[in-house]
Amino acid sequence: MGGSLNLDEIVADVAREIQPHRGEGLVADYIPPLARVDPRRFGMAIITCDGQVAETGDSWMPFSIQSISKVFTLALALEKLGDELWTRVGREPSGSRFNSIVQLEAERGVPRNPFINAGAIVVTDAVLAGRRPDEAIGEIRDFLRKLAANDTIDVDKEVATQEAATGFRNFSLAYFMRGFENLKAPVEDALVTYFNQCALRITCQQLARAGLFLANGGVDPITGERIVSTEHARRINAIMLTCGHYDASGEFAFEVGLPGKSGVGGGILTIVPGRAAVAVWSPGLNAVGNSQVGTLALEKLVQRTGWSIF
Ligand code: GLN
Repeated sequence: MGGSLNLDEIVADVAREIQPHRGEGLVADYIPPLARVDPRRFGMAIITCDGQVAETGDSWMPFSIQSISKVFTLALALEKLGDELWTRVGREPSGSRFNSIVQLEAERGVPRNPFINAGAIVVTDAVLAGRRPDEAIGEIRDFLRKLAANDTIDVDKEVATQEAATGFRNFSLAYFMRGFENLKAPVEDALVTYFNQCALRITCQQLARAGLFLANGGVDPITGERIVSTEHARRINAIMLTCGHYDASGEFAFEVGLPGKSGVGGGILTIVPGRAAVAVWSPGLNAVGNSQVGTLALEKLVQRTGWSIF
């Protein structure tokens, strides 16, 4: 399904074009294990629905998945709760930063969408569903392992511990929602699960593979296994497009034109419906908290492939 495109050539061209920009942006520095990552790192991996793989640079190197994990917990929560989930979280772009608290009071503890932190904490609470955090963390990790067909994917415990030690804003969001009874688990349980999911380490190769079911109506095109319903796949893609880059989601739709989800580790998962999944990683972030060079690389990729949905 790469069609007549020579994807090996295209990723090589993209890597060459972004070369002068490597190191741009600011690496997340709220915890030391993220702050010490070399800002010049860059990797990209594409996997098509018919199993063709093209990759470049540091596509083999694990990085912190951070908010990209929210795509996978949303898939799990939707399969568990179905439409009931939408009574607890909206699906409207927020227009504010990922860790903003400002809308929560006006909207009575129901976060705008599943990809801002408040919404993701609710989604994680839905995955937790009254169980112990280690069971839910294991489920999320195993889901990624299965999707990526790689059993080495695991939580970086140093990142998880330090997220918890510095996550005061996330605690504020969670307590606030608990006050509106939109969090079922104790705040500590919901957050330890959330911090561990954010601390999973993954490579571009593995991430693209893990997201591929979203390019194929919810069915993993390589194994033939249905992962989520067609309807849920469609909805996850819609939310990635409208909310996946926080208050820069409009800009990402404008420049790249694909469903995508970023994380402060510098990764971006992008879905090319019907064709492929693409993962990029470059740790320098722009002012909104999205990978600067990663976004640029996706712009170049879309220019060459014509893969924008618009
Ligand atoms: N762990 C980060 C947080 O909760 C994830 C944020 C992100 O990747 N945008 O603040």
